[in-house]
Amino acid sequence: MRLFDTHAHYDDPKFRNDFPGGTDEAIKKSREAGVERIICAGTRPETNLSTIELAKKYDLIYSAVGIHPSDIRFYGPEKDDILLSETEKLLNHPKVVAVGEIGLDYHYEGTDRDRQKYFFDSQMKIAEKYSLPVVIHDRDAHGDSFDIVRNNPKVSGVFHCYSGSTEMAKQLVGMGYFISFGGTVTFKNAKTVKEVAALVPDDMILIETDAPYLAPSPHRGEINFSGLLPLVVETLAQIRNVSPERIAELTFENAKRLFRIE
Ligand SMILES: [Zn+2]
Repeated sequence: MRLFDTHAHYDDPKFRNDFPGGTDEAIKKSREAGVERIICAGTRPETNLSTIELAKKYDLIYSAVGIHPSDIRFYGPEKDDILLSETEKLLNHPKVVAVGEIGLDYHYEGTDRDRQKYFFDSQMKIAEKYSLPVVIHDRDAHGDSFDIVRNNPKVSGVFHCYSGSTEMAKQLVGMGYFISFGGTVTFKNAKTVKEVAALVPDDMILIETDAPYLAPSPHRGEINFSGLLPLVVETLAQIRNVSPERIAELTFENAKRLFRIE
């Protein structure tokens, strides 16, 4: 079984500091579990550069670069266009395969929603300019995320760790968006996510860890890594009533197609 983890953050200090054996060991154990490709997503200039460094170091890692909606609070608004142009400059690197992660996060009170929308929409336009797919983070912002996606019809990509409705998932798939499932699909109370996982067409489904976050059941609360991806595969296999091997192969081929990776 070969696996493609379409979303992880191996530059997170948790891997260096808290994972037994560090990042090298996390990658080694992931390979042993059958993981052959990983997309590491950047979230601001520092992490964009560190994901590229990881992609240079590990052959199985590829990079997405972008400004995450939760990370713009680290910078004053006078920096907005500098952040965008710095991100754009990284897109020519041969192992950068997507713009992300980008999107909207309305989970916390007091976030500047207009500024988040400006970043999201601007980076959709950058993705269009470079003909790259986008990796979208949408947390508690389904309506506005959908509007921005719909207003950029030439762009497509993936909604990572999907948390929206079944109806929105159907519409996104119709617009050419892939739907990605991670640890949350294994949680007992994840009723809607499981419903969505049952209905996404075979050619539009992806898997991910979002490591080190969102470890699948029964590892909830632990440091997540790509070696736990088989638990997501097994859950999806049960929901869709197919073999785990079939889920692994489908999601591998889909990810290769979306990110144009051999
Ligand atoms: Zn992420």
